[in-house]
Amino acid sequence: MRKSYLRHIPAVDHLLQNAHLQSLLGSFPRASVVEAIREVLENLRLSAKAAQDAQDEWSLPSEEKIVSSVELTLRQKATPSLRRVINATGIILHTGLGRAVLSPRAVDALSSVARGYCNLEVDLESGKRGHREKHIEELLCRITGAEAATVVNNNAAATMLVLRALAEGKEVIVSRGQLIEIGGGFRLPEIMQASGVRLVEVGTTNRTYLDDYERAISEETAILLHVHTSNYRIKGFACAVALAHLVDLGKKCGLLVVDDIGSGALIDLEEYGFADEPTAGRSIGEGADVVTFSADKLLGGPQGGIILGTKDCIARIRKHPLARAVRVGKLTLAALEATLRLFLEKDTLFESNPTLRMLTAGLSILERRARRLARDIAKVASEIGAEVEDECSRLGGGSLPLEEIPTRVVALSHMKLSAEELSKRLRQHQPPIFARLKKEKVLLDLRTIQEGEEKEIVLALKKISESKS
Ligand SMILES: *Cc1c(COP(=O)(O)O)cnc(C)c1O
Repeated sequence: MRKSYLRHIPAVDHLLQNAHLQSLLGSFPRASVVEAIREVLENLRLSAKAAQDAQDEWSLPSEEKIVSSVELTLRQKATPSLRRVINATGIILHTGLGRAVLSPRAVDALSSVARGYCNLEVDLESGKRGHREKHIEELLCRITGAEAATVVNNNAAATMLVLRALAEGKEVIVSRGQLIEIGGGFRLPEIMQASGVRLVEVGTTNRTYLDDYERAISEETAILLHVHTSNYRIKGFACAVALAHLVDLGKKCGLLVVDDIGSGALIDLEEYGFADEPTAGRSIGEGADVVTFSADKLLGGPQGGIILGTKDCIARIRKHPLARAVRVGKLTLAALEATLRLFLEKDTLFESNPTLRMLTAGLSILERRARRLARDIAKVASEIGAEVEDECSRLGGGSLPLEEIPTRVVALSHMKLSAEELSKRLRQHQPPIFARLKKEKVLLDLRTIQEGEEKEIVLALKKISESKS
Protein backbone atom coordinates (compact mmCIF):
# COMPACT_ATOMS: atom_id res chain seq x y z
CA MET A 1 0.00 0.00 0.00
CA ARG A 2 2.67 2.55 1.12
CA LYS A 3 4.86 1.49 -1.79
CA SER A 4 2.42 3.31 -4.08
CA TYR A 5 3.59 6.80 -2.96
CA LEU A 6 6.32 6.90 -5.59
CA ARG A 7 3.95 5.83 -8.32
CA HIS A 8 1.84 8.99 -7.83
CA ILE A 9 4.67 11.26 -8.90
CA PRO A 10 4.03 12.51 -12.43
CA ALA A 11 6.42 12.00 -15.34
CA VAL A 12 8.49 14.86 -16.78
CA ASP A 13 6.67 14.63 -20.12
CA HIS A 14 3.33 14.84 -18.42
CA LEU A 15 4.25 18.03 -16.56
CA LEU A 16 5.69 19.54 -19.72
CA GLN A 17 2.16 19.53 -21.16
CA ASN A 18 0.98 21.86 -18.40
CA ALA A 19 -0.26 25.12 -19.97
CA HIS A 20 1.67 27.39 -17.62
CA LEU A 21 4.95 25.52 -18.10
CA GLN A 22 4.31 25.61 -21.85
CA SER A 23 4.04 29.39 -21.63
CA LEU A 24 7.36 29.56 -19.77
CA LEU A 25 9.02 27.90 -22.76
CA GLY A 26 8.63 31.31 -24.42
CA SER A 27 11.14 32.89 -22.03
CA PHE A 28 13.36 30.00 -20.88
CA PRO A 29 15.28 27.38 -22.90
CA ARG A 30 13.52 24.02 -22.97
CA ALA A 31 16.50 22.29 -21.39
CA SER A 32 16.33 24.62 -18.37
CA VAL A 33 12.60 23.96 -17.92
CA VAL A 34 13.18 20.21 -18.09
CA GLU A 35 16.06 20.50 -15.61
CA ALA A 36 13.88 22.44 -13.17
CA ILE A 37 11.06 19.88 -13.50
CA ARG A 38 13.53 17.05 -12.87
CA GLU A 39 14.86 18.78 -9.78
CA VAL A 40 11.39 19.40 -8.30
CA LEU A 41 10.28 15.82 -9.04
CA GLU A 42 13.45 14.43 -7.51
CA ASN A 43 12.78 16.38 -4.31
CA LEU A 44 9.21 14.99 -4.26
CA ARG A 45 10.56 11.50 -4.70
CA LEU A 46 12.96 11.97 -1.80
CA SER A 47 10.24 13.25 0.50
CA ALA A 48 7.88 10.42 -0.54
CA LYS A 49 10.57 7.88 0.13
CA ALA A 50 11.42 9.39 3.49
CA ALA A 51 7.74 9.28 4.47
CA GLN A 52 7.55 5.69 3.29
CA ASP A 53 10.58 4.64 5.31
CA ALA A 54 9.22 6.35 8.40
CA GLN A 55 5.76 4.94 7.71
CA ASP A 56 4.31 8.48 7.69
CA GLU A 57 1.37 9.81 5.76
CA TRP A 58 2.29 11.50 2.50
CA SER A 59 0.24 13.03 -0.28
CA LEU A 60 1.22 14.43 -3.65
CA PRO A 61 0.94 18.26 -3.82
CA SER A 62 -1.53 19.63 -6.40
CA GLU A 63 -0.26 20.06 -9.96
CA GLU A 64 -0.61 23.82 -9.49
CA LYS A 65 1.77 23.72 -6.50
CA ILE A 66 4.27 21.53 -8.35
CA VAL A 67 4.19 23.87 -11.34
CA SER A 68 4.76 26.91 -9.16
CA SER A 69 7.78 25.33 -7.50
CA VAL A 70 9.14 24.46 -10.94
CA GLU A 71 8.77 28.11 -11.91
CA LEU A 72 10.47 29.29 -8.70
CA THR A 73 13.37 26.88 -9.27
CA LEU A 74 13.65 28.04 -12.87
CA ARG A 75 13.72 31.72 -11.91
CA GLN A 76 16.25 31.14 -9.13
CA LYS A 77 18.57 29.33 -11.50
CA ALA A 78 18.25 32.12 -14.07
CA THR A 79 19.23 34.83 -11.56
CA PRO A 80 22.89 35.75 -11.95
CA SER A 81 25.03 34.56 -9.07
CA LEU A 82 27.09 37.75 -8.99
CA ARG A 83 24.78 40.72 -8.63
CA ARG A 84 24.48 44.25 -7.37
CA VAL A 85 23.86 44.58 -3.65
CA ILE A 86 23.12 47.58 -1.46
CA ASN A 87 25.94 48.34 0.97
CA ALA A 88 24.41 49.92 4.07
CA THR A 89 27.28 48.77 6.33
CA GLY A 90 29.09 52.12 6.22
CA ILE A 91 32.32 50.35 5.25
CA ILE A 92 33.36 52.24 2.12
CA LEU A 93 35.95 49.79 0.76
CA HIS A 94 34.21 46.56 1.80
CA THR A 95 36.33 43.77 0.30
CA GLY A 96 33.49 41.24 0.56
CA LEU A 97 31.20 43.62 -1.33
CA GLY A 98 33.70 44.36 -4.09
CA ARG A 99 35.72 47.30 -2.70
CA ALA A 100 35.59 50.57 -4.70
CA VAL A 101 32.47 51.81 -6.49
CA LEU A 102 33.46 53.07 -9.94
CA SER A 103 32.63 56.55 -11.20
CA PRO A 104 30.06 56.85 -14.02
CA ARG A 105 32.90 57.87 -16.34
CA ALA A 106 34.84 54.71 -15.55
CA VAL A 107 31.71 52.64 -16.11
CA ASP A 108 31.11 54.30 -19.50
CA ALA A 109 34.71 53.72 -20.54
CA LEU A 110 34.55 50.10 -19.50
CA SER A 111 31.29 49.39 -21.24
CA SER A 112 32.39 51.08 -24.44
CA VAL A 113 35.49 48.90 -24.84
CA ALA A 114 33.56 45.84 -23.67
CA ARG A 115 30.99 46.16 -26.46
CA GLY A 116 33.52 46.06 -29.27
CA TYR A 117 37.18 46.09 -30.16
CA CYS A 118 39.66 48.66 -28.89
CA ASN A 119 43.22 49.86 -29.49
CA LEU A 120 44.51 47.80 -26.55
CA GLU A 121 47.99 47.18 -27.93
CA VAL A 122 47.96 49.09 -31.20
CA ASP A 123 49.39 52.56 -31.71
CA LEU A 124 46.83 54.55 -33.69
CA GLU A 125 49.48 56.79 -35.34
CA SER A 126 51.81 54.14 -36.65
CA GLY A 127 49.48 51.13 -36.63
CA LYS A 128 52.28 49.25 -34.87
CA ARG A 129 52.02 46.97 -31.85
CA GLY A 130 52.61 48.77 -28.57
CA HIS A 131 52.27 47.82 -24.91
CA ARG A 132 48.89 47.88 -23.20
CA GLU A 133 49.92 49.87 -20.16
CA LYS A 134 50.72 52.92 -22.24
CA HIS A 135 47.07 53.98 -21.77
CA ILE A 136 47.71 54.60 -18.08
CA GLU A 137 51.48 55.06 -17.76
CA GLU A 138 51.64 58.72 -18.73
CA LEU A 139 48.70 59.59 -16.47
CA LEU A 140 50.28 57.83 -13.49
CA CYS A 141 53.60 59.58 -14.10
CA ARG A 142 51.89 62.95 -14.40
CA ILE A 143 49.92 62.48 -11.18
CA THR A 144 52.73 61.03 -9.04
CA GLY A 145 55.94 62.33 -10.60
CA ALA A 146 57.22 58.78 -11.29
CA GLU A 147 59.47 58.09 -14.30
CA ALA A 148 57.58 54.98 -15.38
CA ALA A 149 54.62 52.84 -14.34
CA THR A 150 52.81 49.59 -15.00
CA VAL A 151 49.75 47.79 -13.67
CA VAL A 152 48.98 44.15 -12.76
CA ASN A 153 46.03 42.24 -11.30
CA ASN A 154 46.30 43.45 -7.69
CA ASN A 155 48.81 44.68 -5.17
CA ALA A 156 49.63 41.14 -4.01
CA ALA A 157 50.64 40.30 -7.59
CA ALA A 158 52.53 43.58 -7.84
CA THR A 159 54.57 42.71 -4.73
CA MET A 160 55.41 39.20 -6.00
CA LEU A 161 56.35 40.45 -9.45
CA VAL A 162 58.56 43.24 -8.11
CA LEU A 163 60.38 40.87 -5.74
CA ARG A 164 60.89 38.24 -8.41
CA ALA A 165 62.00 40.60 -11.10
CA LEU A 166 64.38 42.62 -8.91
CA ALA A 167 65.60 40.24 -6.21
CA GLU A 168 65.04 36.57 -7.10
CA GLY A 169 67.47 34.35 -5.15
CA LYS A 170 68.66 37.32 -3.12
CA GLU A 171 67.93 38.86 0.26
CA VAL A 172 65.25 41.41 1.04
CA ILE A 173 65.45 43.29 4.35
CA VAL A 174 62.21 44.14 6.19
CA SER A 175 61.52 45.54 9.65
CA ARG A 176 59.79 43.12 12.05
CA GLY A 177 57.24 45.86 12.66
CA GLN A 178 56.18 45.73 9.01
CA LEU A 179 55.72 41.98 8.42
CA ILE A 180 52.01 42.37 7.84
CA GLU A 181 49.11 40.10 7.11
CA ILE A 182 46.36 41.59 4.93
CA GLY A 183 42.95 39.88 4.80
CA GLY A 184 42.47 37.07 2.32
CA GLY A 185 45.74 35.27 2.94
CA PHE A 186 48.29 37.95 2.05
CA ARG A 187 51.09 37.36 4.56
CA LEU A 188 54.26 39.14 3.68
CA PRO A 189 56.70 36.38 4.79
CA GLU A 190 54.77 33.84 2.68
CA ILE A 191 54.56 36.16 -0.32
CA MET A 192 58.32 36.62 -0.09
CA GLN A 193 58.92 32.90 0.07
CA ALA A 194 56.66 32.33 -2.93
CA SER A 195 58.57 35.05 -4.77
CA GLY A 196 61.87 33.22 -4.40
CA VAL A 197 63.57 35.84 -2.24
CA ARG A 198 65.09 35.39 1.22
CA LEU A 199 63.49 37.42 3.97
CA VAL A 200 65.88 39.07 6.38
CA GLU A 201 64.02 40.43 9.40
CA VAL A 202 65.50 43.32 11.34
CA GLY A 203 64.63 45.22 14.52
CA THR A 204 61.81 44.29 16.86
CA THR A 205 58.03 44.43 16.65
CA ASN A 206 57.87 47.94 18.07
CA ARG A 207 61.24 49.51 17.29
CA THR A 208 63.54 49.33 14.32
CA TYR A 209 66.50 51.68 13.68
CA LEU A 210 68.48 52.53 10.57
CA ASP A 211 71.38 50.77 12.26
CA ASP A 212 69.46 47.49 12.20
CA TYR A 213 69.11 47.67 8.42
CA GLU A 214 72.73 48.70 7.97
CA ARG A 215 74.09 45.78 9.97
CA ALA A 216 71.93 43.27 8.05
CA ILE A 217 73.21 44.32 4.61
CA SER A 218 75.40 41.70 2.92
CA GLU A 219 76.67 40.73 -0.52
CA GLU A 220 73.36 38.94 -1.00
CA THR A 221 71.08 41.92 -0.28
CA ALA A 222 69.07 43.30 -3.20
CA ILE A 223 66.19 45.29 -1.71
CA LEU A 224 65.31 47.31 1.37
CA LEU A 225 61.55 46.84 1.61
CA HIS A 226 59.35 49.40 3.36
CA VAL A 227 55.72 48.35 3.98
CA HIS A 228 52.89 50.56 5.12
CA THR A 229 51.16 48.90 8.09
CA SER A 230 47.78 49.62 6.47
CA ASN A 231 45.52 47.72 8.79
CA TYR A 232 47.16 48.16 12.18
CA ARG A 233 49.23 50.66 14.14
CA ILE A 234 51.91 50.24 16.76
CA LYS A 235 51.32 52.91 19.38
CA GLY A 236 53.40 53.82 22.41
CA PHE A 237 57.11 53.00 22.66
CA ALA A 238 57.55 52.61 18.93
CA CYS A 239 59.87 53.78 16.21
CA ALA A 240 60.25 52.98 12.53
CA VAL A 241 62.77 54.22 9.98
CA ALA A 242 61.41 56.92 7.66
CA LEU A 243 61.45 56.09 3.97
CA ALA A 244 63.80 58.99 3.22
CA HIS A 245 66.45 57.51 5.53
CA LEU A 246 66.10 54.09 3.90
CA VAL A 247 66.57 55.77 0.53
CA ASP A 248 69.81 57.38 1.73
CA LEU A 249 71.05 54.03 2.97
CA GLY A 250 70.02 52.34 -0.27
CA LYS A 251 71.93 54.91 -2.32
CA LYS A 252 75.03 54.55 -0.14
CA CYS A 253 75.04 50.75 -0.49
CA GLY A 254 73.78 50.45 -4.05
CA LEU A 255 70.48 48.77 -3.04
CA LEU A 256 66.97 49.29 -4.33
CA VAL A 257 64.33 50.68 -1.99
CA VAL A 258 60.80 49.37 -2.58
CA ASP A 259 57.80 50.95 -0.81
CA ASP A 260 54.50 49.05 -0.54
CA ILE A 261 52.11 51.85 0.41
CA GLY A 262 49.02 49.63 0.35
CA SER A 263 45.98 51.83 -0.04
CA GLY A 264 47.60 54.11 -2.55
CA ALA A 265 46.26 57.56 -1.87
CA LEU A 266 47.10 59.76 -4.85
CA ILE A 267 46.28 62.94 -2.96
CA ASP A 268 46.95 64.04 0.60
CA LEU A 269 43.92 63.37 2.78
CA GLU A 270 45.31 65.09 5.86
CA GLU A 271 43.26 68.24 5.36
CA TYR A 272 40.13 66.08 5.46
CA GLY A 273 41.13 64.68 8.81
CA PHE A 274 42.81 61.50 7.59
CA ALA A 275 46.43 61.75 8.62
CA ASP A 276 48.88 58.84 8.46
CA GLU A 277 48.13 57.77 4.91
CA PRO A 278 51.20 57.91 2.63
CA THR A 279 50.66 59.18 -0.90
CA ALA A 280 52.28 57.68 -3.98
CA GLY A 281 53.69 61.07 -4.98
CA ARG A 282 55.43 61.55 -1.64
CA SER A 283 57.11 58.12 -1.81
CA ILE A 284 58.37 58.85 -5.31
CA GLY A 285 59.44 62.33 -4.18
CA GLU A 286 61.42 60.86 -1.29
CA GLY A 287 63.31 58.69 -3.71
CA ALA A 288 61.81 55.17 -3.56
CA ASP A 289 62.96 53.17 -6.60
CA VAL A 290 59.65 51.28 -6.77
CA VAL A 291 56.26 52.02 -5.18
CA THR A 292 53.34 49.57 -5.21
CA PHE A 293 49.68 49.97 -4.20
CA SER A 294 46.13 48.78 -4.92
CA ALA A 295 43.96 50.44 -7.55
CA ASP A 296 40.68 49.62 -5.80
CA LYS A 297 41.34 51.15 -2.40
CA LEU A 298 41.77 54.92 -1.92
CA LEU A 299 42.27 55.44 -5.64
CA GLY A 300 38.68 54.32 -6.19
CA GLY A 301 39.31 52.32 -9.36
CA PRO A 302 38.96 48.70 -10.54
CA GLN A 303 40.90 45.83 -8.91
CA GLY A 304 44.53 46.29 -9.85
CA GLY A 305 48.06 46.65 -8.53
CA ILE A 306 49.97 49.74 -9.60
CA ILE A 307 53.76 49.68 -9.82
CA LEU A 308 55.58 53.02 -10.11
CA GLY A 309 59.31 53.31 -10.45
CA THR A 310 62.44 54.29 -12.28
CA LYS A 311 62.59 53.57 -16.02
CA ASP A 312 65.19 50.87 -15.41
CA CYS A 313 63.21 49.05 -12.69
CA ILE A 314 59.90 49.16 -14.59
CA ALA A 315 61.61 47.86 -17.74
CA ARG A 316 63.04 44.89 -15.78
CA ILE A 317 59.65 44.23 -14.19
CA ARG A 318 57.83 44.39 -17.52
CA LYS A 319 60.29 41.95 -19.11
CA HIS A 320 59.90 39.27 -16.40
CA PRO A 321 57.84 36.21 -17.54
CA LEU A 322 55.57 36.52 -14.49
CA ALA A 323 54.43 39.93 -15.78
CA ARG A 324 52.56 38.18 -18.59
CA ALA A 325 50.84 35.92 -16.07
CA VAL A 326 49.50 38.79 -13.97
CA ARG A 327 48.70 41.31 -16.70
CA VAL A 328 45.36 43.12 -16.73
CA GLY A 329 42.67 43.04 -19.42
CA LYS A 330 41.03 45.81 -21.42
CA LEU A 331 38.17 46.25 -18.92
CA THR A 332 40.57 47.03 -16.09
CA LEU A 333 42.60 49.40 -18.23
CA ALA A 334 39.54 51.28 -19.44
CA ALA A 335 38.16 51.74 -15.92
CA LEU A 336 41.59 52.62 -14.52
CA GLU A 337 42.35 55.23 -17.19
CA ALA A 338 38.98 56.94 -16.65
CA THR A 339 39.48 56.88 -12.85
CA LEU A 340 42.98 58.36 -13.15
CA ARG A 341 41.69 61.13 -15.40
CA LEU A 342 39.42 62.25 -12.55
CA PHE A 343 42.57 63.15 -10.61
CA LEU A 344 43.55 65.69 -13.29
CA GLU A 345 40.52 67.80 -12.35
CA LYS A 346 41.10 68.51 -8.69
CA ASP A 347 38.08 70.84 -8.38
CA THR A 348 35.57 68.11 -9.17
CA LEU A 349 37.51 65.09 -7.85
CA PHE A 350 35.66 64.80 -4.54
CA GLU A 351 32.35 64.76 -6.43
CA SER A 352 33.36 62.55 -9.35
CA ASN A 353 35.25 59.83 -7.44
CA PRO A 354 32.69 57.84 -5.36
CA THR A 355 35.25 56.60 -2.83
CA LEU A 356 36.49 60.10 -2.05
CA ARG A 357 32.94 61.47 -2.18
CA MET A 358 31.69 58.92 0.38
CA LEU A 359 34.79 59.39 2.53
CA THR A 360 34.27 63.16 2.77
CA ALA A 361 30.44 63.35 2.67
CA GLY A 362 29.26 66.05 5.11
CA LEU A 363 27.26 65.21 8.24
CA SER A 364 24.46 67.65 7.43
CA ILE A 365 23.73 65.90 4.13
CA LEU A 366 23.89 62.44 5.74
CA GLU A 367 21.59 63.65 8.51
CA ARG A 368 19.02 64.97 6.03
CA ARG A 369 19.09 61.72 4.04
CA ALA A 370 18.79 59.67 7.25
CA ARG A 371 15.75 61.66 8.43
CA ARG A 372 14.03 61.24 5.09
CA LEU A 373 14.76 57.51 5.00
CA ALA A 374 13.51 56.99 8.59
CA ARG A 375 10.32 58.91 7.79
CA ASP A 376 9.67 56.93 4.60
CA ILE A 377 10.23 53.63 6.41
CA ALA A 378 7.87 54.62 9.23
CA LYS A 379 5.17 55.43 6.64
CA VAL A 380 5.11 51.98 5.06
CA ALA A 381 6.47 49.51 7.62
CA SER A 382 4.26 49.56 10.72
CA GLU A 383 6.09 46.62 12.34
CA ILE A 384 9.46 48.33 12.14
CA GLY A 385 10.80 51.16 14.26
CA ALA A 386 13.25 53.49 12.47
CA GLU A 387 15.31 56.13 14.28
CA VAL A 388 18.18 58.35 13.26
CA GLU A 389 21.31 57.83 15.39
CA ASP A 390 24.90 59.09 15.54
CA GLU A 391 27.38 56.40 14.57
CA CYS A 392 30.76 55.88 12.89
CA SER A 393 31.61 54.61 9.40
CA ARG A 394 34.91 53.01 8.44
CA LEU A 395 37.03 53.12 5.34
CA GLY A 396 37.62 49.34 5.26
CA GLY A 397 39.78 47.36 2.83
CA GLY A 398 42.51 47.44 5.48
CA SER A 399 42.91 51.20 5.22
CA LEU A 400 42.87 53.81 8.00
CA PRO A 401 42.03 51.12 10.60
CA LEU A 402 41.76 53.43 13.59
CA GLU A 403 39.89 56.19 11.85
CA GLU A 404 36.27 56.47 12.95
CA ILE A 405 34.29 58.63 10.57
CA PRO A 406 31.25 60.25 12.23
CA THR A 407 28.06 59.43 10.33
CA ARG A 408 24.28 59.17 10.63
CA VAL A 409 22.46 55.85 10.52
CA VAL A 410 18.85 54.72 10.55
CA ALA A 411 18.56 52.20 13.40
CA LEU A 412 15.85 49.59 12.80
CA SER A 413 14.06 47.36 15.25
CA HIS A 414 11.28 44.93 14.32
CA MET A 415 8.40 44.28 16.74
CA LYS A 416 8.62 40.50 16.30
CA LEU A 417 11.88 39.64 14.55
CA SER A 418 15.31 39.67 16.15
CA ALA A 419 17.92 42.01 14.67
CA GLU A 420 19.72 38.99 13.26
CA GLU A 421 16.57 37.71 11.53
CA LEU A 422 15.74 41.17 10.16
CA SER A 423 19.22 41.56 8.71
CA LYS A 424 18.97 38.07 7.19
CA ARG A 425 15.72 39.01 5.45
CA LEU A 426 17.26 42.22 4.14
CA ARG A 427 20.12 40.14 2.74
CA GLN A 428 17.70 37.75 1.06
CA HIS A 429 15.82 40.59 -0.63
CA GLN A 430 16.36 41.39 -4.30
CA PRO A 431 18.61 43.39 -4.47
CA PRO A 432 20.26 42.07 -1.30
CA ILE A 433 20.79 44.71 1.40
CA PHE A 434 23.77 44.48 3.76
CA ALA A 435 23.39 46.32 7.07
CA ARG A 436 25.38 46.52 10.31
CA LEU A 437 24.23 44.82 13.51
CA LYS A 438 24.63 46.56 16.84
CA LYS A 439 23.00 45.72 20.15
CA GLU A 440 19.76 44.21 18.85
CA LYS A 441 19.44 46.88 16.18
CA VAL A 442 20.01 46.84 12.46
CA LEU A 443 21.89 49.94 11.33
CA LEU A 444 21.62 51.42 7.84
CA ASP A 445 24.58 53.77 7.29
CA LEU A 446 23.73 56.51 4.79
CA ARG A 447 27.40 57.05 3.92
CA THR A 448 27.60 53.98 1.67
CA ILE A 449 24.01 53.89 0.42
CA GLN A 450 24.09 55.03 -3.20
CA GLU A 451 21.75 57.57 -4.72
CA GLY A 452 18.36 56.06 -5.49
CA GLU A 453 18.88 53.00 -3.27
CA GLU A 454 16.79 54.47 -0.43
CA LYS A 455 13.66 53.69 -2.44
CA GLU A 456 14.67 50.04 -2.74
CA ILE A 457 15.38 49.84 0.99
CA VAL A 458 11.95 51.27 1.84
CA LEU A 459 10.31 48.78 -0.49
CA ALA A 460 12.21 45.86 1.05
CA LEU A 461 11.21 46.89 4.59
CA LYS A 462 7.58 47.30 3.50
CA LYS A 463 7.60 43.72 2.21
CA ILE A 464 9.31 42.37 5.33
CA SER A 465 6.87 44.24 7.56
CA GLU A 466 3.87 42.87 5.67
CA SER A 467 5.10 39.29 5.50
CA LYS A 468 4.08 36.73 8.14
CA SER A 469 6.93 36.20 10.53
C1 LIG B 1 45.76 45.88 0.63
C2 LIG B 1 47.23 45.71 0.72
C3 LIG B 1 47.87 44.71 -0.02
C4 LIG B 1 47.11 43.77 -0.92
O1 LIG B 1 46.54 44.48 -1.98
P1 LIG B 1 45.50 43.76 -2.97
O2 LIG B 1 45.29 44.78 -4.05
O3 LIG B 1 44.29 43.49 -2.17
O4 LIG B 1 46.13 42.53 -3.48
C5 LIG B 1 49.24 44.59 0.09
N1 LIG B 1 49.95 45.40 0.89
C6 LIG B 1 49.37 46.38 1.65
C7 LIG B 1 50.23 47.24 2.53
C8 LIG B 1 47.97 46.56 1.58
O5 LIG B 1 47.39 47.51 2.31
